[in-house]
Amino acid sequence: MRRFLRRLFRLALLALAVMLGIAIIKTITFTSRQIPVEPLEKRPVEDAVGERLGRAVRYPTVSLPGSIDTAAFIGLDTFLEQQFPLIDSLLEKRTVNGFSRVYKWPGRNPKLAPILLLAHQDVVPVDEANKEEWAFPPFGGKVDDGYIWGRGTMDMKGMLMGIMEAVEELLKEGYSPNRAVYLAFGHDEETQDGYGAKAIARAFREEGLQFEYVIDEGMMVLEDALSGLPHPMAMIGVAEKGIVTLELIARVEEVGHSSRPPKETAIGLLSRAIVRLEEHPFPAKIDGATASLFNYAGPEMDFFYRVLFANLWLTGGLVKHQLGSDPSTNTVIRTTTAPTIIQGGFKDNVLPSEARAQVNFRILPGETAGTVADYVRTVIDDPRVTVAVPAGSTPEDPSPVSGTNTFGFEVIQRTAREVFPDAIVAPALFVGFTDSRHYLGLSDNIYRFSPMRIRRADLPRIHGPNERLGLDTYKDMIRFYLRLIENSCK
Ligand SMILES: [Zn+2]
Repeated sequence: MRRFLRRLFRLALLALAVMLGIAIIKTITFTSRQIPVEPLEKRPVEDAVGERLGRAVRYPTVSLPGSIDTAAFIGLDTFLEQQFPLIDSLLEKRTVNGFSRVYKWPGRNPKLAPILLLAHQDVVPVDEANKEEWAFPPFGGKVDDGYIWGRGTMDMKGMLMGIMEAVEELLKEGYSPNRAVYLAFGHDEETQDGYGAKAIARAFREEGLQFEYVIDEGMMVLEDALSGLPHPMAMIGVAEKGIVTLELIARVEEVGHSSRPPKETAIGLLSRAIVRLEEHPFPAKIDGATASLFNYAGPEMDFFYRVLFANLWLTGGLVKHQLGSDPSTNTVIRTTTAPTIIQGGFKDNVLPSEARAQVNFRILPGETAGTVADYVRTVIDDPRVTVAVPAGSTPEDPSPVSGTNTFGFEVIQRTAREVFPDAIVAPALFVGFTDSRHYLGLSDNIYRFSPMRIRRADLPRIHGPNERLGLDTYKDMIRFYLRLIENSCK
């Protein structure tokens, strides 16, 4: 017996040594994926760009479902024509559905596939409830103490004007791209009414266009992206999550007076179904875009985290648990469950025959609206509760995952490294929604990246009060687009 125990102990020690050995090898071979670049001299950008962005903010191009402020869009259009005379005279311009704008800068070599830079002109309205919190009027476009203030500076007139400034500057320098450069600025991204980007994409499809890559707003250069990462991180969204809303309807046969309630009621059944869903979250996965993120960021992290991310085969459970405990990271590892509407009953002494709820799911790539509905039915496991997509709601499957070994990813990565030399670059999953979704099929290589360097604490300014953009941040955005076009169109 003692001999057996000794042998078992030796075996356990050996297994531990092997695991340790694998962990060490994995950590040593977990090497940087950052491409080396020559330091780029900062191109001079004049301060006047800040004032010009401020003036663009003064057109309140708010989009609301089914309605836009047409005068504001016409005003912005005229303003762009006046401010960027070379773009106006040298590029081919057309308008789609009255307010969306497409520019084409022809290339020297028509055999090369064009590139497409996207932005949206519309902005979200200002919430009356927190209007008082604004330090400056939201549509004042005030430039103060190194910041341009106002609705749309971050989302996303900064990008729109940044692209225009970059192209105008390149035209001034006599630059001629080898491949065509398209700019497409929709006017209803915030409402997804379907008249802007969706219509532009339809026109592109009819022309048979195929783009080398598409770049839209998306993830940013976050100074404090991950704990354990001592660098800012430029995240390039290679995919975006899908969305489906499911309506749960609990129905019961026995209704009537609340003085003789049956054991089970519609409200009780519905509540139980929702609690089951919350208690059984979708499985956590570190794959696809999120696995790539850790493959790119991991080697740049402090030692402890490097060991952790190099050895997900061993530490995966722990990492998933850790990421799952914070809503901002939980959303990148699983399909999320959010009950948003509940209805049932109409009188305090009458038992309703049915109760309804809507639950909003954000779908991880690899799953679909259909597989989400199947999972929900399995978890609820009650035929008295039906699960269906409610009328008027359209599910959107997650986007395909764009590659990282592509020309598009490579030039965006290179440009980000040149313009933000202290930052590392990583592919990532975007959990929001962008217009780029409409351009699926027009390119296999769709990237969601806003070259805007900010801190986490600045994120609530987007769609919230006190939206503002640092002048230096904005200048780097212009430098990014300038360099991106140069790197893409040599
Ligand atoms: Zn936006």
